[in-house]
Amino acid sequence: MIDYKAKIECKASYDVVVAGGGVSGIGAAIECARQGARVAIIERNGILGGGFTSGHVAPPLGSFTPNTMADELLKKVGVENGSGQSHDFEKMKIIISKMVADENIDVFYGCSLVDVVKKDKNITHLIFSTQSGLKAIEGKIFIDCTGDGVLSYLAGEKVEYGRDDGLVQPVSIMFTVENVHPDQHIVCYHEEMDTVLENGNYLALCREACKNGTLPPTVNIVRLYRGVVPTERMVNATQANGVNPLCPVQAGKAQALLREQMEQVVDFLKTTVKGFENIRIKNSTEGIGVRESRRVMGEYVMTAQDLLDGKKHHDVVVHNAAFCIDIHNPSGAGQSEQDGCPKQSQPYDVPYRALLPTVTDNLLVAGRCISGTHRAHASYRVMNICVNIGQAAGIAGALCVKENVIPRKLDYKKIQKVLTDKGVELFN
Ligand SMILES: Cc1cc2nc3c(=O)[nH]c(=O)nc-3n(C[C@H](O)[C@H](O)[C@H](O)COP(=O)(O)OP(=O)(O)OC[C@H]3O[C@@H](n4cnc5c(N)ncnc54)[C@H](O)[C@@H]3O)c2cc1C
Repeated sequence: MIDYKAKIECKASYDVVVAGGGVSGIGAAIECARQGARVAIIERNGILGGGFTSGHVAPPLGSFTPNTMADELLKKVGVENGSGQSHDFEKMKIIISKMVADENIDVFYGCSLVDVVKKDKNITHLIFSTQSGLKAIEGKIFIDCTGDGVLSYLAGEKVEYGRDDGLVQPVSIMFTVENVHPDQHIVCYHEEMDTVLENGNYLALCREACKNGTLPPTVNIVRLYRGVVPTERMVNATQANGVNPLCPVQAGKAQALLREQMEQVVDFLKTTVKGFENIRIKNSTEGIGVRESRRVMGEYVMTAQDLLDGKKHHDVVVHNAAFCIDIHNPSGAGQSEQDGCPKQSQPYDVPYRALLPTVTDNLLVAGRCISGTHRAHASYRVMNICVNIGQAAGIAGALCVKENVIPRKLDYKKIQKVLTDKGVELFN
């Protein structure tokens, strides 16, 4: 065994290192660089954007607060406020690449974070894999935007996983079908959105197909979103339960199952919905889509009750976050809440304390792995909320470097001031 930690040769040194260049990671990195910090991103994929791009996730949901990073991205990509329309993934790749290049951020593509080096309560280096072996990068402040809480886990933070019985939300493969007849207008955003077809109600037909085996036993709704091309639909339907997405072997088996389910779903649509007879799969997510894995426990743990009450916080950094408690059933088909429909939240605040882990001094967390319960996570995990959490973490990281303080000691009012100076509403 090579003791690589003992012989770190590190030429790369930055103010702030962002682990994971997905939805929250690009929010964190771009805003942090705009605030004057020298920033690097470590990204295991060959493209930035996570859910926004390689994850093939749409539509962007959760919060349409003007002047935020989510607002900026959605305007650039041409998605209207609250339209529920999917964005153009290729256009988003170009937009994000340009924004990151404009801020002079170094991106370490194809590099997986595999370990950390700590001195007392501070991270000094991240260790990542490259085509030439393991390398190190040095930083002052680190932001965990890996979705899976990889950096926090490696740094020894307290993490939680799943609901009380240990199950997490199912993994899925989102995909786009093309060749929908131009006269066919059906969309199906969620469990309450029924449409009367010539052969019956759409949702009832889905339920029936699940029962009679036409659809897989875990698929009793086939959600269809309109994209930028009228003859295409994004399909959110496939579902593998009982999978630990952190286990590579389980993830591989789930991928095979989900790709098989894609064909079943397409056959169902072809034979059931008029205008879908000639559809074919156009593209899909890289790998599998992970809704839920580790949650990093922080100074404040957000709860579902906070969200249902629309709780406001003195240290708000994301205001008017708005999305239902959307728990895709970890142990069956459809939704896991009792009446089969997600519970609506009231517009709520994400507090800075939910981005602050409790063990490491120079670490911030952003995106779906921030501090909250299984049920609260089911709401704030959506992309517009995650990119704005990233933006707040990026501001915090840059301020910490400027003022030479650790995130826990940073005056949260300074983060709020940067946001409100940009025209972001934080209080009402
Ligand atoms: C099937 C599915 C459907 C969804 N539907 C919607 C929807 O309709 N609307 C919506 O708004 N949201 C939806 N979501 C939720 C949303 O996509 C995610 O919760 C959101 O992208 C989380 O943002 P993030 O930054 O935490 O993670 P991500 O966007 O996943 O980014 C994490 C990044 O970290 C990188 N990474 C991970 N580990 C490492 C490592 N060890 N080293 C280096 N890089 C690493 C990844 O490659 C990725 O780029 C859906 C999610 C799934 C899976």
